[in-house]
Amino acid sequence: MDLRLIPDPPATESPIGRALTAMAAGEPVVLIDDRAKVPAGFLVAAAEAVSTKTVAFLVRHSSGLLCVALSGSECDRLDLPPMPGAGQSPTQFDACVTVDAANGIATGISAHDRARTVALLAAADSCEGDFTRPGHVIPVRYAAGGVLRRIGVAEATADLAQAAGRRPAALFDAVVGLRRPTELADPCELREFAESHDLVTVSVSELIAHRLSLEPLVSRRATTRLPLRAETMHAIGYATVFGEEEHLALVTGDPAGLDDVPVYVHRECLVGDVFGSLRCECRHRLDNALATITAEGSGIVVYQKSNSRHTADASSPAQLSEEELFPFLAANIVQDLGVRSVRLLADQEPHRNAFRLRGLPTRMHRLAVTAIS
Ligand SMILES: [Zn+2]
Repeated sequence: MDLRLIPDPPATESPIGRALTAMAAGEPVVLIDDRAKVPAGFLVAAAEAVSTKTVAFLVRHSSGLLCVALSGSECDRLDLPPMPGAGQSPTQFDACVTVDAANGIATGISAHDRARTVALLAAADSCEGDFTRPGHVIPVRYAAGGVLRRIGVAEATADLAQAAGRRPAALFDAVVGLRRPTELADPCELREFAESHDLVTVSVSELIAHRLSLEPLVSRRATTRLPLRAETMHAIGYATVFGEEEHLALVTGDPAGLDDVPVYVHRECLVGDVFGSLRCECRHRLDNALATITAEGSGIVVYQKSNSRHTADASSPAQLSEEELFPFLAANIVQDLGVRSVRLLADQEPHRNAFRLRGLPTRMHRLAVTAIS
């Protein structure tokens, strides 16, 4: 990948930049889960850097139900099985059996005791014998791939800790209302709370945008030569780094290092692509795009396969939709092919935006839709 095309890291004064600085220093941050059905706010902190004072602060201002997001492999290593019934609904997190530190604590419930338990959960050298079960801290297994795989508070906090350079173990707890302590804090109260304690506020949407814009999203797999249209193209397979979804780049010539490379992004349409259905323009658009890049001697068609994971859960708030995710995957595929700037062969506004956010200079070029016989 041409790293010159990756934009600079977030400015330190941006919400995500300030949140990562605070997390790296072990300070708590207010995370707004604006993607949940009922938006809520959480106090979150990198577990390995957290002090007893910070745990006391969390306990004082939150529900008191301290959770620590851990990877599946850490949960397995520390023998933390799922709590019976956990993770039944797609929006629910995967809670494990509760734990306390086996040594160095009194009853386990004080901030001091819970800080020790949290530190042990985050330590690379702790082991299953360091904990007693049940206890007063809830380990939560987050989905590998974080918010790009599942949009949840456990995934978001672990992502923040990791992006801050800390181990992906993160403490989180829901903030309670300032004026209505019997309820969770509403968005107004969350802002007020963060301001009064000089805490950084960051939203799950901001974290998702940060990851989609800056991180490697795909990795290159097999390349095959594909005779097509009296021309030999290269078909290059890509897989997402946070899942198993696969996409394809059809490449003519060698676009690496070139400017104004024609690029067309196509989303799989079985009835159109394979059977030439007249109910949509998919087949015509694909044919035209392939004809265009063949005629120009250099270009890319990104063919994105619809995946049951996304389509089946399109209505679920717990996963990114294809509409949201695919333009960024396409941009990263084009980046991986090393082009300097792009001419998008269609009116694909979300794609132009994604390409721009990933630092790829892009202009639009309307693709004429005419039948090719
Ligand atoms: Zn179609």
